[in-house]
Amino acid sequence: MLVKIGPSCRFLRVATEDSCRLFQKVRMSQHIQAQRLEGIDKNIWVEFVNLAAKYMTVNLGQGFPDFSPPSFVKEAFIRAVSGEKPMLNQYTRAFGHPPLVKILAEFYGKLLGHDLDPHCNVLVTVGAYEALFCTFQALVDEGDEVIIIEPFFDCYEPMVKMAGGTAVFIPLRPKGDPLFSGNWQLDPSELENKVTARTKAIVVNTPNNPLGKVFKREELKVISDLCVKHNLFCFSDEVYEWLVYDGREHVRIASLPGMWDRSITIASAGKSFSATGWKVGWALGPDHLLKHLRTVHQNSVYHCATAAQEAVSYMFEKELALFGTPDSYFVQLPQELKQKRDRLAQCLTEVGMEPIIPEGSYFMMADISRFKTSVPPSNDADEPYDYNFVKWMMKHKRLAAIPVSAFYSTPHKKTYEHLIRFCFAKEDKTLEAAEEILQRWNYQQPRAP
Ligand code: PMP
Ligand code: GLN
Repeated sequence: MLVKIGPSCRFLRVATEDSCRLFQKVRMSQHIQAQRLEGIDKNIWVEFVNLAAKYMTVNLGQGFPDFSPPSFVKEAFIRAVSGEKPMLNQYTRAFGHPPLVKILAEFYGKLLGHDLDPHCNVLVTVGAYEALFCTFQALVDEGDEVIIIEPFFDCYEPMVKMAGGTAVFIPLRPKGDPLFSGNWQLDPSELENKVTARTKAIVVNTPNNPLGKVFKREELKVISDLCVKHNLFCFSDEVYEWLVYDGREHVRIASLPGMWDRSITIASAGKSFSATGWKVGWALGPDHLLKHLRTVHQNSVYHCATAAQEAVSYMFEKELALFGTPDSYFVQLPQELKQKRDRLAQCLTEVGMEPIIPEGSYFMMADISRFKTSVPPSNDADEPYDYNFVKWMMKHKRLAAIPVSAFYSTPHKKTYEHLIRFCFAKEDKTLEAAEEILQRWNYQQPRAP
């Protein structure tokens, strides 16, 4: 290729030919990308967020609230950038803005029943995503195995792989009525059988995305006993920690006996304050583990937005003062979401998409088997049916959801392809629009004679 752009043309030609030759050489060796990226180039969020936008759907797909955060949250951000403190526009401490790590240490110290040192036991990250990334990179080595409970938030598997480890999966299986998330349980002996000499850690996600299961204390005790017995780490993703319903209790596994020293607890201001775009998250844990997460963090993103961290520190000050009272957002948000959960569950039941009632999170899985009659299977035999179903639903019904097989390992995807996930953290008018679509669709379904 030769582009004529004035006197430097000859140099451009030489440079272009050189880079072309170099590119071909690299291509021939077939190692353009690092091998650890093999097989992880597809991403459910990238694909389905694009499709939802393309078809301008009523969007119950990606997990974010379409309502505003409360005014104190927006005011906190405005205060942080309003100019009172010009340094809030500049870099701050790499591992967490001092006022934020201080208040997080105080807040979580009470919840975990353990004194936290703001500088050693808290790392502020770019969302919970970065906290997860630092955890896997820092603590998982080549050849290590990491046990992941299915269904699982999809990024765990590629993150283990990028760290050089191998993911080992164990499914939650319904015991009793499958339409209640609490009945999906681990088999303790199956779990113990997954442990080998190479096992490094178990990943726990409670409340679980996408199932909405809130692990009971006894269930976490089985996991923690195993961690202690086999000297394993526990990576506990608790981003939906405040979203629990019907009097369920969110139990932090790091607070169980013998667990503090071997656990990393991960959470997110995005989920807790309905501001997912702020991307402020954190990891909590003992210094002997967190110091390695800090190494990854300091050599990758270095720190996250100062003003956002300052704002989150104001929000936690308020929440600390209001803790457990009716004015606390952590009390109000689950109350609002419970109504939305019940509304969506009722609608799904009425139209014959059987919902699995979640005890926590803002997701609801539903069985679409009855709707299969109106949705033809795809020509691509490898594509799980739920992927095809959701794509069809977005295109033809303008309603977005997420296929549940995306939250399963490859060998298990086909077993769960009759399920899709809805997010109910949505304005009432969005839920109403979804209801209208589903009711109209149901009305057109062929009935049993
Ligand atoms: N963990 C789980 C279970 C999630 O659902 C998400 C998505 N929000 C994350 C981690 C990442 O959270 P953040 O948006 O704070 O990066
Ligand atoms: N955690 C959110 C969900 O499960 C969004 C994840 C993302 O967009 N990457 O829907």
